[in-house]
Order: sequence, then structure tokens, then C-alpha cells
Amino acid sequence: MATDLRLPTHKIVRPDKDRFLNEENPFEAMMSRFDRAAELLDLEPGIYRVLRNPEKQIIISIPVQLDNGDVEVFTGYRVLYNTSRGPAKGGIRFDMQVTLEEVKALAAWMTWKCAVVNIPFGGSKGGVVCDPLKMSAGELERLTRRYTAGIISILGPDSDVPAPDVNTNERVMAWIMDTYSMHARHTVTAVVTGKPVEMGGSLGRREATGRGCMFVTKEALHHLGMPVQGATVAVQGFGNVGSIAAQLLQREGCKITAIGDRSAALHNPAGIDVEDAVRYVKQNRSLDGYTKGELISNDELLTLDVDVLVPAALENVITSKNAAKVRAKLICEGANGPTTAGADAILEEKGIFVIPDILANAGGVTVSYFEWVQDRGGYFWSEDTVNERLRDIMTRSFRDVLSLSRQHKVNMRTAAYMLAISRVSTVHKLRGIYA
Ligand code: NAD
Repeated sequence: MATDLRLPTHKIVRPDKDRFLNEENPFEAMMSRFDRAAELLDLEPGIYRVLRNPEKQIIISIPVQLDNGDVEVFTGYRVLYNTSRGPAKGGIRFDMQVTLEEVKALAAWMTWKCAVVNIPFGGSKGGVVCDPLKMSAGELERLTRRYTAGIISILGPDSDVPAPDVNTNERVMAWIMDTYSMHARHTVTAVVTGKPVEMGGSLGRREATGRGCMFVTKEALHHLGMPVQGATVAVQGFGNVGSIAAQLLQREGCKITAIGDRSAALHNPAGIDVEDAVRYVKQNRSLDGYTKGELISNDELLTLDVDVLVPAALENVITSKNAAKVRAKLICEGANGPTTAGADAILEEKGIFVIPDILANAGGVTVSYFEWVQDRGGYFWSEDTVNERLRDIMTRSFRDVLSLSRQHKVNMRTAAYMLAISRVSTVHKLRGIYA
């Protein structure tokens, strides 16, 4: 019989409640949203405590021989936040800004994201503190393989399945899959997603997150009674998510008036030819030197007078300091955690409709799920099938969250957390606590 986690005499005690919230600590930012949704759901205190803590946190030292013969030691993390609904799923990030707090937040977001789109995965995330732009391909390969070996005991198609994130890509996934397979003594394609198509990757995976952003942006525009045709859009981040979202929104008839990356941001009220900018970035690795627009700062990009703003770079770009200046009517959070908890209330007061990250960028993990299903079944789908099934899941999830937000008179972020937390907590109640 399932254990009853209800503790009737206890009220939820929120550790952060009377403490100063560091709005730029992503884990605290995630937790403050979690707390609000948990309170509205009247979550049982036992389950509340379970869901507030990551299941497993791994920190490893990764020695790597550099090309010049020196040995450098990097720090790597892998956090399994919650696996009650299925194997953990979450990307791996290579970046100098990676911290355990960030990885924990990203792993929790993965848990809620998989639950919002109702795919049978839990959430995890990994990261290595390094600057991949300063490393050779050989150094990156040795780093990736040694990191994989360091966390291999938790990896596996049934336990924890990585994917690409900031500064990791198909090639990195291929090295992880190969390293894992060498240890397993047979080829295990389903241990990672976001692999090259030639070795078990899914058609449409590379574009899936940006495509998902496009589907939910269209849904939101319809909901707000705004035409897609001619809607003006500013996109921050011109990597996998931002560039694809910009291209697909442009194909749907939107006018992309600003784009930006780490090196430069450009504004052109007449519209930027996104395909041309993508070609430029392929040749030059960044937007630096691209001249088909007026150079603006990344901060200015966020406050342009546009219909849609797509932050698709890193966390904490819309904060309590600049939220009042945001003029977009709709924000589609392509990145994870681009808006701080402090900015939420300001955006809501201004009547800005926010499609929260755990819904807006869930297209990537949804097609990762399709990839995992295809690998395990050994039968691969056409790109049209992938894209149609992605559209179905993204539009259904958008409508589920919208209907909950109307029912409880809360914003889309709170509704998405409520939906996710109720799905995860239901499974916890059914499973009970193993003792
Ligand atoms: P990416 O490395 O392909 O691209 C990141 C982009 O952001 C680059 O254009 C980079 O120049 C830009 N950037 C970095 N720092 C910046 C700064 N300070 N100001 C402006 N631009 C900056 O990464 P990605 O895969 O596109 O991921 C972007 C975001 O989307 C991350 O938050 C990631 O976690 C999230 N995300 C990615 C996926 C996916 O499938 N790739 C899925 C869900 C969420």
C-alpha cells in the first residue's frame, strides 16, 4: 500500500520565506516560484520537503592532459533532482559560470519541464567549469570522456540520459555515447540524446527547442488577439535556440527587428534577414562585425518596443532592475531562467504575458524523448512525424497551462509550476516512500 505522506498537523515551513532572496541565485529563484505554487496547491508538507531537495549531487575533479603537456584539473557536476516519473533527463553545460547552485536549479527545472509536457522523465543537469572556446578539439574530447567516466555509475538509458546545453553539441554527445558504450561492452545509443542522426539521433532534434518556442509564441499571440503576420520580435542569444526560433518565426511571417549574441546586438526596424545572419555566424562564429542593423547594447535589446521578446541566452537577464523598462507585450523564455523572481511581479503588473521557460523551451526535451523512444525501439521516424508530434505536445501543454492559469487566476509561470508539481507529487503519493 502506498505510504501516506500527509502530515496533518504540520504547515508548510518555507525556509526562504523570511530570508533575503538573492534573486540572481538560480536555485533560490527556482525555489521561490516552487514555494508559491506549492502553497497554492496546498501541497502536503512531506511531499513538499521531498520535492525541495535534489536526490543526488555529484562533484568530480577531472584531470585532463592539455595539448602542451600540462595537466589541468576541471570541476564537473551532475545533479539528479527527481526521478519519480522516470529516468533523469538533462543537458550538460560547459561554461566558466557553472556552479553547483546553477546545476541544481537547472536539474529542478528539467524535472518540472518534463512534467509540464507530460513526458515520462525526471530531471537532471550537468556542468563542467571550463572555457571550451579556448580549448582544442582534442582537449575537449579528453575532458568529455573523463567527465563521462567520472559519472558513469549514474548514467544509463534507464537512469540518467544527458543532452546538449550551452557550449555542448552533437559531437560532445557522440563522445559520451562512445565512452559509455566502451564501458558497457556494447553500443548503447539511448544513453544520450542530441546525437548525430547517423548514430541514432533524431531528425528535428537540433531545431526542436527553437521550433517549440515558435509553436507556443504563435499560440500566445492568438490568445492575446495579436496577428502573427508582422508581429515584431527581438531575440537575445543567437545560438541553437535563438537562431532557430528567429528563423522559424520569420518563416511564419513575424518581423525580426533585433538579434544579439555574446559579441554584438543589432536593431533594424525594417526587419533583419535571419537566414543571412545565420550564414554570417556560421562563417564568423559570432555576430561580431555583422553590419545589417544599428549596433545596440544587449540591455537595449531587452527593452525595445516590440511585440515579442525571446531571451534565448543565459539566466538572469530580466531582473528587478530592468523589468520596468521592458516594452514587449509577450515574452517567450527560450533560455532557462532568463527572468528573476524579482522581475516576475513587475512584468505581471505591466500586463506582459510571459511563456515561462519550463513550457517555452520544452521542445528540446520533448524531441529528446522522441529520440530515446526511437533508439530503444530501433525504428526511426520522418522529420515531419517528429515535428507534428512536437507541435501536438507543445500546443496541448500551452493550453493545459493557460487553462490552469485562468482557473486559479494566476500567471502562466505559476500555473506551469502548479501543473508540474501536481504531476510529480501524484506519482510520489502513488509510489510511497521506500524504507
Ligand atoms: P548556445 O551555446 O547554442 O547559444 C547561446 C547563445 O547565447 C550564443 O549566441 C551566445 O553568444 C549567446 N550569449 C551568451 N552569453 C550572452 C550574453 N551575456 N549576452 C547575450 N548573448 C549571450 O546555447 P543554446 O543551446 O542556444 O542555449 C541557450 C539557452 O537555452 C540556455 O539557457 C539553455 O539552457 C536553454 N535551452 C537550450 C536547449 C537546447 O536544446 N539547446 C533546450 C532548452 C533550453
